[in-house]
Amino acid sequence: MKKYILALDEGTTSARSILFDRDMNIVAVAQNEVPQIFPKPGWVEQNPLEIYASQFASMTECVARSGISPDEIAAVGITNQRETTVVWEKATGRPVYNAIVWQCRRTADICDELVKGGHADEIAEKTGLKIDAYFSGTKIKWILDNVEGAREKAERGELLFGTVDTWLMWKLSGGKIHLTDNTNASRTMLYSLSKSDWDDGLLDILGVPKSMLPGIKRSGAYYGEIDFMGVKLPICGVAGDQQSALFGQCCFESGEMKNTYGTGCFLLAHTGSRIVKSGHGLITTAAASLEGEGSEYALEGSVFVGGAVIQWLRDGLHFIEEAHDSEYFAKKVKDSGGVYVVPAFTGLGAPYWDMKAKGAILGLTRGTKRPHIIRAALESIAYQTDDVIKSIAGDTGVKLSALKVDGGASANDFLMQFQADISDITVIRAEMKEATAAGAAYLAGIASGFFKDKAEVKALSSNHRAFLPQMTREEREKKLSGWHDAVRGCRAY
Ligand code: ADP
Repeated sequence: MKKYILALDEGTTSARSILFDRDMNIVAVAQNEVPQIFPKPGWVEQNPLEIYASQFASMTECVARSGISPDEIAAVGITNQRETTVVWEKATGRPVYNAIVWQCRRTADICDELVKGGHADEIAEKTGLKIDAYFSGTKIKWILDNVEGAREKAERGELLFGTVDTWLMWKLSGGKIHLTDNTNASRTMLYSLSKSDWDDGLLDILGVPKSMLPGIKRSGAYYGEIDFMGVKLPICGVAGDQQSALFGQCCFESGEMKNTYGTGCFLLAHTGSRIVKSGHGLITTAAASLEGEGSEYALEGSVFVGGAVIQWLRDGLHFIEEAHDSEYFAKKVKDSGGVYVVPAFTGLGAPYWDMKAKGAILGLTRGTKRPHIIRAALESIAYQTDDVIKSIAGDTGVKLSALKVDGGASANDFLMQFQADISDITVIRAEMKEATAAGAAYLAGIASGFFKDKAEVKALSSNHRAFLPQMTREEREKKLSGWHDAVRGCRAY
């Protein structure tokens, strides 16, 4: 009888492995940092072999630390930083270039060319994405155009492409598995949402030979076996980090949504089998689905500066010593005293899409004190999230009743209550803090038969705290109107 599921969580800066038991208790965790390389301003890379080595070391350490025997593991699930691009030689496994990380802006010019070439509508229509350097397609093109001999080799079928999930599976299986899942594929700008497959027209536009691309499977499916510590383990779950968190939060149905409050905020709303195109600047993306199911979709909106505004209070302004002190100060005053912080440090995302906007603190008076500004900074995270929630509601026409939350800043009770109040929504914070890794574990668990179905995993994650909306409608509208005035003021400047 197998007793455990091993989740591999390859994030932007660290590779982690978490071993879960049948009740989703964490049995062991191991983590290794993966350094980023910054060759020029705006360029971000990682060494693919370091990504693999760190992940492999964390797996080994996690299982060794747990004291279990590896043959007690039922299946492995993988979740990963999305869009990050690796190209390697099929014959030797040698990467032809460093991994180009999702944050890297080097292909902004290629994106401008695509827009000038009149491809924006076709790309948006097929992929659900805005043309942006963020996605993998232009990163592959850059490698083929800039690494000596790469394009010729790719055309001869000698090179392979993968996002980080694919690269890890290829390495862990000794070159036997070259696959990805729908969620990772949907971030490449080469994938058609309606066909759930690579799109030849998009491959032509970006000049990417089809022979480089991995096969695509459902997120919960059998991917193949790896040799690990002397036993063969099946990989049965793969999903990009945000979609994995959506699954890990048990958002399986249309209208269910989650927000991850990390450095930025990532909000995903499940739209079931509907491909909803956004009129508010949101992205349409594949949601995790299981073998034998139809394709599932989600709308995604992000807030660039979420928890990072609290880092700024700590490290930039020295207003607080630790991030969690922000809650203590926010609760010292009865409101923000009319102060609004608009943390547009790197422009504003959905629904404004104003890359030139800069941040501002508005509404200062002689009576403004430090706690007012701290409180306003926390409130800004909720206001920005609310802007995305309203965009989703506008796009789907669905009344969204609950928001499931995770990520570092979701530990802040003041922020969670304010979110419930300002969005007039129930905020649900699960006891299980590892939603991203849990998603990969659930997918691998269901696909391997370790868990029976979605209903069983939903029952496992029933412990949570709910924050119910308490603010009057009048007060909510007044505060929201102040926020929108503040955003206008900041953009006018
Ligand atoms: P990431 O995965 O993006 O690195 P985390 O999920 O670890 O982020 O969350 C860290 C972020 O959350 C930081 O920006 C930090 O300022 C913020 N944060 C952490 N704890 C709190 C807290 N109690 N209140 C407000 N913000 C917090």
